[in-house]
Amino acid sequence: MPNGTLSQMSERTLRLYDTMTRQVKPLELVEPGHLRFYSCGPTVYSYAHIGNFRTFLTADLIIRTAQALGTRVTYVSNITDVGHLTQDDVADAGGEDKMARALQSKEGEQFNNVWELAEYYEDAFLEDWARLNLKEPQVRPRATQHMREQIVAAEQLIAQGNAYETPTGVYFNVESFPSYGKLSGNTQENLKKASREVVLDDNKRDQSDFALWKKDDKHLMQWYSPFGWGFPGWHLECSVMARMYLGETLDLHAGGEDLIFPHHECEIAQSEALTGKPFSNHWIHTRFLQVNGEKMSKSLGNYYTVRFLLEKGADPLAIRYALISGVYTKPLNFTDQSLSDAMGNIDRYRRSDAAVAAGLEAARPGDDAIGTLLEELYDQALDAMCNDLNTSVALAKALEGTRVILREAETLSLASAESGKVYLDRINDLLGIVRPERVLADLQTESAPKVDEARIGALIQERIDAKKAKNFALADQIRKDLEAEGIELRDTPEGTVWVLKSTL
Ligand code: AMP
Ligand code: ZN
Repeated sequence: MPNGTLSQMSERTLRLYDTMTRQVKPLELVEPGHLRFYSCGPTVYSYAHIGNFRTFLTADLIIRTAQALGTRVTYVSNITDVGHLTQDDVADAGGEDKMARALQSKEGEQFNNVWELAEYYEDAFLEDWARLNLKEPQVRPRATQHMREQIVAAEQLIAQGNAYETPTGVYFNVESFPSYGKLSGNTQENLKKASREVVLDDNKRDQSDFALWKKDDKHLMQWYSPFGWGFPGWHLECSVMARMYLGETLDLHAGGEDLIFPHHECEIAQSEALTGKPFSNHWIHTRFLQVNGEKMSKSLGNYYTVRFLLEKGADPLAIRYALISGVYTKPLNFTDQSLSDAMGNIDRYRRSDAAVAAGLEAARPGDDAIGTLLEELYDQALDAMCNDLNTSVALAKALEGTRVILREAETLSLASAESGKVYLDRINDLLGIVRPERVLADLQTESAPKVDEARIGALIQERIDAKKAKNFALADQIRKDLEAEGIELRDTPEGTVWVLKSTL
């Protein structure tokens, strides 16, 4: 066992696919026994959808598996509340700030200012996070609270010759960082050929130079800096906050697959230019959650929020179960079927928990008839998690344990019930699917009508087509008809979304 590898006395090692080296490899820790982990958090301009949570759940499962191996974890996950622009894939960072744009949308009307909007969606996010049994990070830093550090970093990069100022902002000069592209394969050479590299500022030295600071004295959220009024580029916050709370070299950095480029590539360039050290020793990215084979995203309007599913009557643990039921390295299709299967499995855990509690209470004499088998099943589930978070095998093994318990439910001896309790506790620690870990008030669900999402999706599409064909009467009729059913269509900057009126 190499020194510093994340392993247990039993020689178990957590092995994960590393985006940088493109192979599954053991998670090596700079400080033995201590995992220092940064995962990019949400942009709080709207409710997070369950696709976002799929990515956060990957991070959660890493933490749980590491802890099961006896490792201490320091976990940092940020809140992006400024600087994430609508065209963040363009190096210049084009479009509008997502936060400012949300304030100007219809939903934004309920807020006095962008700070209030950020706070509202952050609170909603933290509540969903808790409902899904996600582990709390030790630090949840906000971009707006780390402005000084970001400005200092931009100044330092300029002083070192890695960045320069133009009339519109400060840009990182990718030519000054020869290994730019090592994570994504988007080297400068490749980028020059990429047609989507829209250059908004002619003063840039190279078209792929990306924004560290945007000058803008009209922006809703602006700070004074040596470069004048403005706000930081989205990538800078993570470089600065990761280093501040976790040191110059992280053990592991995570996010969804869309963050590989440009976000993480740019984080690497900034951080490594600043410190001269590797930014992270391991990179992990979760493939997208899909709906009907398409990426779940706000702009496509095909997303579900946690609260929407809860209002439809889903159990939060079942949402969690469905979201982790496929391995993170493959896209996962979210369907009604996967959710109702998960509901059935969560129910098995609930019944097992109740049977064990009754067995402890009854205190029947007799041998422990299930302990050895349950221990084997737990070990197999843990092995599967150590094998690049193979959740489908881990969940199947764990579920077998409920069969073992439920088979004996009526006659469990005290000794068997004790083994059952140990098993369920350990499975809950590892996978978070047995019982809620926080006490939260119930959402109001009683008045929620049942809805047919596929039909609503088709009607939204019909309305878009009608508008395109300038048939506004039909478009309006579709909206009115849905409204009569208690479903409100909202045209947001990210596309048309629908909400149940009873949930407003
Ligand atoms: P955002 O709030 O847009 O900054 O996204 C927060 C996290 O969710 C990022 O790590 C994204 O990569 C991730 N993400 C966005 N859409 C999906 C999806 N459909 N499936 C999985 N992860 C996603
Ligand atoms: Zn980030």
